[in-house]
Amino acid sequence: MKMVFATGNSGKLREASEILGKGFELVTPAQEGINEDIPETGMTLRANSQQKADYIWQHCHTDCFADDTGLEVDALGGAPGVHTARYAGEDKDFGKNMDKLLDELSRKEMEASLMKSMGITPKKNLRKARFKSVVTLILGGERHFFTGVLEGRIARSRSGKGGFGYDPVFIADDYPSSTLAEITEEQKNSISHRGKALRAMSAFLSEMKAGA
Ligand code: IMP
Repeated sequence: MKMVFATGNSGKLREASEILGKGFELVTPAQEGINEDIPETGMTLRANSQQKADYIWQHCHTDCFADDTGLEVDALGGAPGVHTARYAGEDKDFGKNMDKLLDELSRKEMEASLMKSMGITPKKNLRKARFKSVVTLILGGERHFFTGVLEGRIARSRSGKGGFGYDPVFIADDYPSSTLAEITEEQKNSISHRGKALRAMSAFLSEMKAGA
């Protein structure tokens, strides 16, 4: 079955192909002649992932799916959230994004220790965070949504060379002594937010196939 995955990221494409397995031919928007940036102007992860999938469906009328991911940090009131890719600016620079996040959290910790010195009990677990992915699948023109969450915390500094994005500063609860950039791609895919959402989609597709 041919499906368009709204991504230009080869790592994501590999991950999705492995999860969906044989029987699915995944193609990119570029392979379908869509070379422009697909708009992402929603206010939520779900709205953005839907917007990307809708765009593909409107242009190709082929079954398709899109994902959108955000990092939510409790001490920052859920930020950067839907702004994760552009947290430090429109250039989507991973280095600047991580530096901004580490700076913001250091500031929160300084505020907390100041509060403590004044006898006020500050919030605990300031570094608690999670990645959340929402996948929108469009099958025969009908939308279906799948969510995956990876719980963890933000490290005090960058560590590791693997992965992408915020991986060097994110420590998953499943691997508490390493950042995501220090574990293997296989280990990461087995616990990742996107992996969970894609596996939920895969289970749904298998059920649909079995019922057909
Ligand atoms: P997107 O929706 O996949 O484009 O993700 C938005 C932003 O979240 C990206 O620009 C990355 O900075 C970050 N991100 C998404 N998934 C991951 C991940 O698995 N590890 C680290 N950062 C990620």
